[in-house]
Amino acid sequence: MYADLHWHLERGRIDREYALRFLERGLQSGIQFFGVTEHTHHFRQFQPLYEPVLRDETLLGERQRAWYQAHFHEDVERYIELVLRLKGEGWPIALGLEVCFFPETVALAKKLLASYPWDYLVGSVHWIDGWGFDFRFNLPEWKHREIDVTYRRYFALLQEAARSGLFDVIAHPDSLKAYGHRPTQEPLALYHQVADTFAECDVATEVNTGLIYRYPIGRACPEPALLRSFAQSGVPITTVSDAHEPNDIGRALETAQKLAREAGYTSFVTFAQRRRISHSFE
Ligand SMILES: [Zn+2]
Ligand SMILES: [Zn+2]
Repeated sequence: MYADLHWHLERGRIDREYALRFLERGLQSGIQFFGVTEHTHHFRQFQPLYEPVLRDETLLGERQRAWYQAHFHEDVERYIELVLRLKGEGWPIALGLEVCFFPETVALAKKLLASYPWDYLVGSVHWIDGWGFDFRFNLPEWKHREIDVTYRRYFALLQEAARSGLFDVIAHPDSLKAYGHRPTQEPLALYHQVADTFAECDVATEVNTGLIYRYPIGRACPEPALLRSFAQSGVPITTVSDAHEPNDIGRALETAQKLAREAGYTSFVTFAQRRRISHSFE
């Protein structure tokens, strides 16, 4: 049994025909539960959350400013209507959203997210103190960063995201490695700390295969040792492809399940109206 609770319509259109390409393809490959998680940065309603990316007049600041100007053109109401319509037609789909986490705008995020009927909210750390680390155009910034210090800050932000109380799932929990930047040693103590924080905050996390086929690192997220810490602390997981194209829905989910089993998991979760539902892998 498979679920894919993290994928995006952003490269196509927010309409029924395009969404059905994901759902039909997913059904064929054995997926029984779907959850779509468009990014907040496509919707004009969430633009105020992203003020921290307009950081300065450096080249990095300029590039991020251009990115900021080029996004936020869709209407979240249209997205929600589409997913509710698909649900009404009987598709096993949940209404999610991938929300960029900024510690500076938690209260505002809470307010902006409150008026919509989400099944679940996924919190993502894509930005470290105003630096969007997973943009290819921002890679030169690594020259000014020490890897282990950056990892410590990244994992601190993941924990802040969990503590914010905004999210049901914390996404791709070591995606800082996307372009091949790994800690000099696996920070096992930090892994335990992150896992314990997620457990205390009662948030789930995900085994995300997107980094296997979308980024140079070519590995699932999180690393096996971090996944073992999550399993030991009792943090529930979703298994997700992070597909950005219909052909990628469900991609490598068998690998995700294998990694999860090896780490000690026997089940995954889905969501309905912010309630978590557990399913056995069998
Ligand atoms: Zn993401
Ligand atoms: Zn995503």
